[in-house]
Amino acid sequence: MCGSKDGDFVTPGDKIGVIEEYEPGFGTYASDGVVRSSLAGMVERDVKNHLAVVKPVKEPLLPRPKDVVYAVVSSLSDKLASVMIVSVGNRLLSDYLTGLIHIRSSSTSRVRTLRELFKPGDIVRCEVLTFKNGVYHLRTQGPGFGVIYAVCSLCGTPLVRARRGLKCPVCGNTERRKTTRDYGSVRLRWLI
Ligand SMILES: [Zn+2]
Repeated sequence: MCGSKDGDFVTPGDKIGVIEEYEPGFGTYASDGVVRSSLAGMVERDVKNHLAVVKPVKEPLLPRPKDVVYAVVSSLSDKLASVMIVSVGNRLLSDYLTGLIHIRSSSTSRVRTLRELFKPGDIVRCEVLTFKNGVYHLRTQGPGFGVIYAVCSLCGTPLVRARRGLKCPVCGNTERRKTTRDYGSVRLRWLI
């Protein structure tokens, strides 16, 4: 009969069936009367319509240059912010990835230290610049990028936008961040 069952994982060249049984559908080809897989994926046989297809395996979700990602600030120095990338757009990653924001890619205005812009725990929206040495290099310049969610460093309450900077609605503490224009109104499936 055939070399693989329905739902089996196959790789290019694997035998799926014979031409008398199945017509070669998407992801397959026929050669010498044998239907084989042309890609890596899962076999699906439609017995009624005598059709065999291979559904390609989804490639893992990874950020690419120019992608918008969301990340949590994990640590800060004057020149470098280390972040954990959590999602690409609204699509949550299965595991977080390490990202870096260098001070020169952080803001269009002059800043002395990144501590003026971020605090550990902030959620930031960034654009991916490059992937180098196992790390994503990110930027937060412009009104669309920066902190979208931050909590009060005294009491942990989410900060709200105030006339100047951010304010804690509970203890009245005011703080500064490099926020996005839509700070406080971003609804991410994984965040709320
Ligand atoms: Zn507070």
